Amino acid sequence: MQFISTRGQSEPLEFSAAVEAGLAPDGGLYLPDSLPDISSKLSEWERYDYARVCFEFMRLFATDYDESELQRIIGQSYKKFADKRIAPLVQLDEKTHVLELFHGPTLAFKDFALQLLGNLYEAQIKRTGSSINVLGATSGDTGSAAIHGLLGKEGVNIFILYPDGRVSPLQERQMTTTGATNVYPISITGSFDDGQAAVKDLFGDLEFKAEYHLSAINSINLARILAQCVYYIWAWLRLPEAARANLEFVVPTGNFGNVLAGWLTQQMGLPVSSFRVATNQNDILYRLFTTGTYAVDDVKPSLAPSMDIQIASNFERFLFYKVGQNPEKVRELMKQMRETGKVDFDAFDPDSFTTSRSEDGDIERLIKEVHERYNYIVDPHTACGFQTLDPDKTSVILSTASPAKFPDVIESAIGIHPTVDSLEKLKTYPIVTYPLPADKEAIRAFIKEHVSSGEKQEEKS
Ligand SMILES: *Cc1c(COP(=O)(O)O)cnc(C)c1O
Repeated sequence: MQFISTRGQSEPLEFSAAVEAGLAPDGGLYLPDSLPDISSKLSEWERYDYARVCFEFMRLFATDYDESELQRIIGQSYKKFADKRIAPLVQLDEKTHVLELFHGPTLAFKDFALQLLGNLYEAQIKRTGSSINVLGATSGDTGSAAIHGLLGKEGVNIFILYPDGRVSPLQERQMTTTGATNVYPISITGSFDDGQAAVKDLFGDLEFKAEYHLSAINSINLARILAQCVYYIWAWLRLPEAARANLEFVVPTGNFGNVLAGWLTQQMGLPVSSFRVATNQNDILYRLFTTGTYAVDDVKPSLAPSMDIQIASNFERFLFYKVGQNPEKVRELMKQMRETGKVDFDAFDPDSFTTSRSEDGDIERLIKEVHERYNYIVDPHTACGFQTLDPDKTSVILSTASPAKFPDVIESAIGIHPTVDSLEKLKTYPIVTYPLPADKEAIRAFIKEHVSSGEKQEEKS
């Protein structure tokens, strides 16, 4: 299988090369050149455990991988999950289920993709013999999931910028207490946007990027989307047959990556009625799916910070299919979005998507209602998924983070302070962090200083 860019001006690549590239050279995002039909395989997959379902799915795409190696990599990727079901499906009442995606090492769903991506990177480095330096900025969850996907991996250094004092104390500990010598958490003065700008600047220096083999950990990597398809299939396989008939997956959404993965499984033949795009008060996608207008607004910080996004980068992948897989049309619309921050889609067809939005007041209310009704605690992101469920459908709400990651919001809503042992233990480990200004030159000097010349010389490019 080959992977093509949504903008049509880059060479199609095999799976491993598309994973290594992340973003396509023409600025587009990679997608499979055709979508396989999985509908006839589902009854067989019903018998398999999570890692096996993942392997059966990924082998359809990673056709340039040796199958036994792929199976080994996938097996290893889901070993650090605390629940052996990996993604348990919890039934709350006749029509309401929660898919718990927070049993990975950093207690958020991003572990599903980043544990696998870390192992794919490692395999790639072994194959090519050249080391890589991963650089990224984070507002919390992505950075910690990336660090835990890559820590201790040979041939990888990981530099993560996070805004000092603006990530939660637990998120900071997840990044700074690993003890791994290839992990460099950098606390910058300023905001997430300042960190992001410094990273972008540095990636713009193509010579430095090539010399140091810089690689990004953004949510646009194709492997992340495919890894996230698997738990939709898994949840469907676990549902009783009657519940599959009129099924809606409800997805707390920011960058549109997670819900897009679900929609792709439907395009591949998973029988799902609809997908709910559940936003917080940063509601660009809610507005799009209700009015047909995509209009960028300012980010308003919320109680569900991992959804505080206005530019949903994965939307471009959906757009590609929406415009009939016409890359020229994608280029035109993306240009318009970049230049004016606004696109009107006339006769916009929401396809299989429904949508809802939750303000901070709703989030606290929903945490309380879910707790009173089901004696079940949801985190602030997952709470957005409980906004006005469709009574005619079976709802599977994706729980994207553990409530223990956001104890203060939970405590204020229901007076309970949730904890998990793995987070409590972090409080006893020493913090190692590197304070720097959010400045391209300072970051460059830091990377130069910490990447040993031996590692640099190993590189072939
Ligand atoms: C990243 C994240 C989201 C948003 O997911 P997208 O793929 O960006 O739509 C939702 N909840 C949590 C807890 C997250 O970490």
